[in-house]
Amino acid sequence: MDFAQELKSRVDIVSVIGERVRLKKAGANNYQGLCPFHTEKTPSFSVSASKQFYYCFGCQAKGDVLKFVMELEGLTFYEALKELAERNGIPMPKRAQYADDESRLREALFQMYELAAEAFRANLRGPSGETARAYLVRRGLKPETVEQFGLGYSDRSGRALLRLLEQRNFAAAQIEQSGLVRKRDDGSQYDYFRGRLMFPIHNEMGKVIAFGGRGLTDEDVPKYLNSPETPIYKKSRVLFNLHRAKEGIRKEDRAILVEGYMDAIGVSAAGFHGVVASCGTALTSDQVRSIKRHSDKIVVNFDPDAAGAKASERSVQLLLEEGLQVRIMELDGGLDPDEYCKERGPEAYRTRLDGAKGYFHWLADRARSQYDLRTTEGQVAVLKYLVPAVQRIPDKLERMQIAIEVAGYVGVDQANQGMVLDAFKKSVADRNERPMQQPAEIVRPDEKGLMNVLLSDMEGREVLLDELPKIEILQRLAARRIFQAVAAIHAAGVPLTFDAVNGRLEEPDQRLLAVTVLSADGEGQDFTLEYGVQCLDSLRRSDYQLRVRDLKLQIKEAERTGNLADALRVAQELQKLERRPTGAS
Ligand SMILES: [Zn+2]
Repeated sequence: MDFAQELKSRVDIVSVIGERVRLKKAGANNYQGLCPFHTEKTPSFSVSASKQFYYCFGCQAKGDVLKFVMELEGLTFYEALKELAERNGIPMPKRAQYADDESRLREALFQMYELAAEAFRANLRGPSGETARAYLVRRGLKPETVEQFGLGYSDRSGRALLRLLEQRNFAAAQIEQSGLVRKRDDGSQYDYFRGRLMFPIHNEMGKVIAFGGRGLTDEDVPKYLNSPETPIYKKSRVLFNLHRAKEGIRKEDRAILVEGYMDAIGVSAAGFHGVVASCGTALTSDQVRSIKRHSDKIVVNFDPDAAGAKASERSVQLLLEEGLQVRIMELDGGLDPDEYCKERGPEAYRTRLDGAKGYFHWLADRARSQYDLRTTEGQVAVLKYLVPAVQRIPDKLERMQIAIEVAGYVGVDQANQGMVLDAFKKSVADRNERPMQQPAEIVRPDEKGLMNVLLSDMEGREVLLDELPKIEILQRLAARRIFQAVAAIHAAGVPLTFDAVNGRLEEPDQRLLAVTVLSADGEGQDFTLEYGVQCLDSLRRSDYQLRVRDLKLQIKEAERTGNLADALRVAQELQKLERRPTGAS
């Protein structure tokens, strides 16, 4: 067996996807969750445990476990194989032909970052790390927290890491692409990070892929230096601490979003584990989706300063557009989240967290201070201020609910300000809806039943398979090419599996196959041989009716054109057909 096949037979797609997307059981063999590949409010992403594939009814993303890992994590085929093999303790074959150049480079980069993280940690413990250690003490970080987050220190000499990488025999070209060294005009190289406190940044599976380096003296400009993008690090896709926080996010069913490394570490050390950091820049939709795979509720806890407010506004807009429920957490005393946890303690932070206001109420409060709500003009002004934000909620029903609630909060309701409320509701309602895509062709119930029976691994299905070529109507049905694939596989004597059929189909038919298999689950039908025979009979009856209709049409046509010989010949054929009840062949 090919290694990819072996791997697929040994890992369960439900647990692999379930680690990355929150799934709920739906039907006997299916699981459902919010699609990680498009924005949605209600789950249309399905995973079939029995057939080991996924399919999204919203964006039509689909495939097997390897495709999922490749797509979600941006991996090559080889890397997806390797990751699944490693996590499941399955030894990879030593054959190197699996690895393409890109995979080999990225593998080397992962190794270099692991090595760098180790070296930085050792520096922090050693004599050169004194200033950094003093800084951490000042910031109130406990040794176990430093250890847990893998903090380190980059040597000031400027060649220590470069030498280490060379000693370990990484190719010069790989080192150059690592983002860990820089090149001077004369071609000589030196370390990218020098004399900085180092925060390792991990991908969601917990591998170090980049660093954030904080300067420790005034000469260190900029204060925060981040790794450049590399083949393993795309800034817009990564959130600091997500690999540790995802468990906590699921358990609490909410994420806490802070701005900086120190905030994430401080809040996490105070016992709030579902915390991630955007690291100063406004969020991207990839980052938002990576949170949403674990929970659709989020508390935004940004710095109280003006720059924080700006970043938070842009981030909140995006969170709303991606359909998350957003609450805003404000801390008093001008403290950032890390300082707050240390100065006021975890209980005070908990109180603030639990009391965090829904975004729209928070926004209304801000508007309130600018307008006089006792006047109609003031109320209208506040509602106008809220319109763009409310419009960002993708789901119409939810949008209208929020609109009414927020209007009530501002003091506008049907009883006293009917006109104002109606105008507000109308402006909020106007929004371009994206139509949902539907599969174009309809699969008949007997067709669907037969296909599911054929794809269930059971004894005796050869009886059905042998009959397929004789049923003409199969060539006219929506799933005709799927039946052709099934028949071809049977004729070739290859084992008939979902993968085998899927592999022979083009894109639209793969989609049809996925929908047919998934939508059959949960209908309570057992796909027995007996049921298969019933479906086949039903198809035969239709087949017969269709042939009769065709012949009758041909006779009419022949008569119309005066071709009596033809009309007679077809009439005889029709007679012959009608002598056989239900057209059993
Ligand atoms: Zn989707």
